[in-house]
Amino acid sequence: MTALSIKNLSKSFDGVDVIKNVAFDLPKGKMLAILGPSGCGKTTLLRSIAGFEIPHSGAIKIGDQEVFNERRHLAAEKRRIGYVPQEGALFPHLTVAQNVAFGLPRNSRRNERVLEMLALVGMQGFEKRMPHELSGGQQQRVALARALAPDPALLLLDEPFSALDTGLRAKLREDIKYALEKSNATSIMVTHDQEEAFSMADIIGVMRDGDLIQIAEPNDIYTNPKDLNVATFVGDAILVDGHAENGYVDCPLGRLSHQQKSVEDARVTVMIRPEQLTIEEGRTATVLKTTYFGHDSLIDMTIGEQNDMCSVSIRVLGKPNVQKGDEVGLRVNGDVVIYEQQNSH
Ligand code: ADP
Ligand code: MG
Repeated sequence: MTALSIKNLSKSFDGVDVIKNVAFDLPKGKMLAILGPSGCGKTTLLRSIAGFEIPHSGAIKIGDQEVFNERRHLAAEKRRIGYVPQEGALFPHLTVAQNVAFGLPRNSRRNERVLEMLALVGMQGFEKRMPHELSGGQQQRVALARALAPDPALLLLDEPFSALDTGLRAKLREDIKYALEKSNATSIMVTHDQEEAFSMADIIGVMRDGDLIQIAEPNDIYTNPKDLNVATFVGDAILVDGHAENGYVDCPLGRLSHQQKSVEDARVTVMIRPEQLTIEEGRTATVLKTTYFGHDSLIDMTIGEQNDMCSVSIRVLGKPNVQKGDEVGLRVNGDVVIYEQQNSH
């Protein structure tokens, strides 16, 4: 079942397009991470879905209710959305319990629901505290409890971990993922951190300059990025020039297989993930430098001759088994991804 459906959504500020024709469907119970650099339009997209911004065109449907189209703009408070803004999510003058109770109907179940939500986010016992008596991470937990309490049809989280230390983040990430799964919430989390998107989301949407460039499962985004920009944004990418022909691509690492069979007789850029490479006997590459980090090592190498030289770095577990100056072979495991270069024929 589709929890959220967005069609051709556009929004501009002062004549500048900030959201450009964005469209996607989100199935019920899934988490979508919108991943993109600062300023690409992530917050504006969330605020448009929540009803705090009025888009210029397009349509938004939550469940089977059309909450926005060119004739209709349903008020934010009627959309059944839980929203955790980037900062200042809690009312500073209300206690933790009052914050969580805020959106709940005044009935006999109210207190019980507050306690249930605080337990879900690991904040039982903090009911009487004021927001300023909590750490950043604790505040985010309470903000999540408050957003989840009315059982929203859709939960929107704007960079929920950006104000926290790295150590705290990992734990809170896990706890929030658990809380969302347990409450079977459908959610959108906005982040500029690819590790956060990959570790939490069922679906990732990569955004750039107001465009939703690619939306797919994390593994698809990683192994088959739509363009070079996505490829380098979501992980380390080794890029070498090549020539696609006869269903293969020839490059300094040899003749490799790829899946873009429609690209033929063309200059291409070959994208290889570092973990696809293994070192073996041979003379493809020259070791430039090795750096030992304990749990793994970085091996920097060059491939090819002077005019056509490129560098490649890979990580190996433990101690490096090669040293500076060694000539080695490099095996590429699995398919590579190729991108046609302009004026490539
Ligand atoms: P992100 O959350 O990805 O960092 P935003 O959605 O906050 O991006 O902003 C996208 C662009 O829209 C930015 O260039 C920002 O300056 C602009 N913008 C956002 N809100 C407004 C506003 N209320 N008025 C004018 N420009 C805005
Ligand atoms: Mg933002």
